[in-house]
Amino acid sequence: MLMPQEGNEIFFSNKSCSFITFKNYFLFTFFMEYDNASWPELDAFISDLGIKKPYLRIWKTMESTPITTASIDALVNQGLVVVTHPLGLFSGKILLGKLEDGKIVLKQGLSPYERDKTLFHELAHLHHPVLLCSGDSYGYFSEKEQAQREAIAEWLGRTARANPELLRHAIHRFELKPQIYDLASYSAFKDDSRAASCSSGEPYSLFMD
Ligand SMILES: [Zn+2]
Repeated sequence: MLMPQEGNEIFFSNKSCSFITFKNYFLFTFFMEYDNASWPELDAFISDLGIKKPYLRIWKTMESTPITTASIDALVNQGLVVVTHPLGLFSGKILLGKLEDGKIVLKQGLSPYERDKTLFHELAHLHHPVLLCSGDSYGYFSEKEQAQREAIAEWLGRTARANPELLRHAIHRFELKPQIYDLASYSAFKDDSRAASCSSGEPYSLFMD
């Protein structure tokens, strides 16, 4: 459910926390910028977080209420639209004013994969507006906690984007141009005459990072 905010407050952005700091099993510290992290890095981080923080409500909620075509329809029916903007540092933002003013703003000029990855990152936030809020709309979160929420949103978004049915549905419902660049997007749009192919000539594989 979209929650109305005062004015057009920007309360999610996908670079609100630039870095995640954590120790892995080998006890050395490194940094992961979640939105640029490779899929293996991100997946390992989320697995590790699940072990360290099994009590987080988001784990069960992700399972019990996954992103579906119906949940995407619900956002569209509430008036959510997708627009593009230069955006500077950010690749995506959510603007929520009155419900009918809800916007996902995607940075102009993103590569096809980055555009869809960013769209689904923001959809993951909107699908779990409280549990995956990393701004200050629902209380204070430490930098570490914000980063963890961002990483979970990124993981959830990438997982949903890799589902051809969800990808096709979201692109059509938000009236974006279908683009083919990996196996999931090929499966989603191979029969769509409007789809732009961005193939390098190589066989398609699943693009997860
Ligand atoms: Zn985010």
